[in-house]
Amino acid sequence: MSNDRLGVAQSALSFINSRYRLRFTRRDQLEAWQARQLKYFLQRVLPRAQRFKNLSVTRLSELPLMDKNLLMEDFCGFNTRGLTLEQVLPIAHHAETSRDFTPMLGDITVGLSSGTSGNQGVFLVSSQERRRWAGILLARTLPGHLLPRLFFPWQAPIRIAFFLRANSRLYTTLASRRVDFAFHDLTLGLDASLAHLNAQSPDVLVAPATVLRGLAGLAQAERLSIRPSHVLSVAEVLETTDIEAVHAAFNVQPRQIYQASEGFLGYTCEKGTLHLNESHLHIEPDWLDHERTRFQPIITDFSRHTQLIVRYRLNDVLRVADTSCTCGRAERAIAAIEGRADDILWLPDLAGRQLLALYPDVLRRTLLMHGATLREYEIHQQGLCWQINLQAAADHHSLCLALRDSIHALCALRSLQPPVLNFGHWHARPLHAKRRRLQLLELPEGLPCTY
Ligand SMILES: [Zn+2]
Repeated sequence: MSNDRLGVAQSALSFINSRYRLRFTRRDQLEAWQARQLKYFLQRVLPRAQRFKNLSVTRLSELPLMDKNLLMEDFCGFNTRGLTLEQVLPIAHHAETSRDFTPMLGDITVGLSSGTSGNQGVFLVSSQERRRWAGILLARTLPGHLLPRLFFPWQAPIRIAFFLRANSRLYTTLASRRVDFAFHDLTLGLDASLAHLNAQSPDVLVAPATVLRGLAGLAQAERLSIRPSHVLSVAEVLETTDIEAVHAAFNVQPRQIYQASEGFLGYTCEKGTLHLNESHLHIEPDWLDHERTRFQPIITDFSRHTQLIVRYRLNDVLRVADTSCTCGRAERAIAAIEGRADDILWLPDLAGRQLLALYPDVLRRTLLMHGATLREYEIHQQGLCWQINLQAAADHHSLCLALRDSIHALCALRSLQPPVLNFGHWHARPLHAKRRRLQLLELPEGLPCTY
């Protein structure tokens, strides 16, 4: 079999496997499947990497936690090919500067993570892993009405338009005779994409939430004539206002893909609920609060055999759904990806003894109450000060006063000391920069954090 054919066969196999076989309706069956995969992974795959060579573990919990910093510190130790950072970095940097994302190191794709907090990650994926990933992604995200287009050669291929900061071999793996895949480079701006986008007329539109909102605006201004039947949000928190804008412009409810450099972590099901991709990854919750409503995921990707992601603590904060999903899937349902751990702001309690968390969804809800008068905002916390930059629909000063009142009311409700508030003007960031509304730059000094 030729390489191309083998690739398509691998993707198709993982598609069928994911869509039809690995669909667990009972939690105990899902966990039994994970346990079998983990056993193989711990015994056969792990020892191939230098870092785990002499370890003999039977249970995942015996292994230490890792994160992006550790992965980068011991880059060579965490991959089964013995590749060093010095070997792979030039390829990644060349791709970034030339915007040509095709070069590889043998069969390995090298990717950079966006690194919003400054520490950039480098990720390795083999071609076999890429093809599996493509199959799983399509299996988990394509709605039923588009499937005949994927399978029947007499029908037109599925047209996918994909907006991201950087392309990668990983994404172009989706392209095939049955998938017409167009990548749009966000660093070039939306205007550069319009002609191509209108000509392709995609069935599936994939983009960060802020870009979806921009495209919805362009469609309403009749500069864009596309009619996608499926819209997927990636890489940023999807806010209610984004959902409304997409719905108004395209008459479809946007779904989410929870994809990070670390893996394909979650997807929205046909009922509109975000599920963790637990058939392919083991995800331990690291609970942030006593009530167990929010956690940071610790992931072990037992399907990756090149770069090992083992008990890797992600910086994201997820909020669990109150009820299980009516689709019947056993994979954990998530109410929202709230953002990153440093999107949580902290304020002292009234007694001044400890710092208590203000979670992103709580703040977002408070600010959303100002409706359309508040167009854009960002809040940066530095010690006891919050710098709030906002864009008002009408009078900036009166909106600042209204915001101050609602933040004071929120603090009173939560028994928190209100922060010192400074107001400024919001300025648009470049399109390829990730939207971050809330950011903790520095904690107030001298008090412990209590979740
Ligand atoms: Zn569901």
